[in-house]
Amino acid sequence: MKKFIVLITFFLVFLPAHSANYLWQNKQDIAKHQHEKIQQWLKFGVKATEKTFHKLPFKPIKFRVKPSKRNNEPVPWGQVNRMDNSILLHTSLKFSINDLKNDWTLYHELSHLYLPFLSDDARWLSEGFATYSQQIIMLKAGLLSSTEFVERISAGLKRGRKNTSMNDDMLFIASQNMRKQRSFMRNYWSGAAFFIEVDLALQQKGLNLPIVINRYITCCLTDEMRGDELISVLDEVSQSTIFSSFFQEYYVREDFPSITQKNINKLANFYNSK
Ligand SMILES: [Zn+2]
Repeated sequence: MKKFIVLITFFLVFLPAHSANYLWQNKQDIAKHQHEKIQQWLKFGVKATEKTFHKLPFKPIKFRVKPSKRNNEPVPWGQVNRMDNSILLHTSLKFSINDLKNDWTLYHELSHLYLPFLSDDARWLSEGFATYSQQIIMLKAGLLSSTEFVERISAGLKRGRKNTSMNDDMLFIASQNMRKQRSFMRNYWSGAAFFIEVDLALQQKGLNLPIVINRYITCCLTDEMRGDELISVLDEVSQSTIFSSFFQEYYVREDFPSITQKNINKLANFYNSK
């Protein structure tokens, strides 16, 4: 009996710590009265992301929070450090827990962890995945209504199209020169359009993007990959050629893709009812 009690105590004391989903690494740098809010926020973000992808890519997800002096938005900047896959969040601490939860940066950076660091010609793929996923995560977490989901995607695609009109290089070249040419919106939203088209095609086969990503992180997630390498693994885990057929088209495309309003509505309904 005594042994049994010792065992139970061991699990109660040690197990929760070991199975924690997130780890805030630089608590000591932030004033104590802010701790509760930040912990609640990070915990919420990780849980919301897990709700979409059914699984976390790593455990625990590591965070660092840097107080930001730019007080015009809650999280002006976020970044994944690929050395240890930790997420750095520049955060304006004057904002409330609700403001922090409603900011998209956390969900965007968490989404990046589901794919490896990709070669420069595939930045559009990496940013497109995070840009599309953040919308699904926020919809499923109840932070966006279906209408807001549709509005955000439509507005983003519009920005992407506008940015594409200034440069008609092939997408992989625009991707290599993204910072120099400031073709961020073209890259982010061409990539988002790619994943929208892929997701719709997967749904017709009874699959969807989060299911395929869940399979991918279970078998095959690595630190670094070329874009085309990732695409062939995604074909394999989805037992289809959906990823590669869209990839071939998108990689060299000089124009901005057309996604119909009807299809964006379809996605809103699909993820809202799940
Ligand atoms: Zn990003």
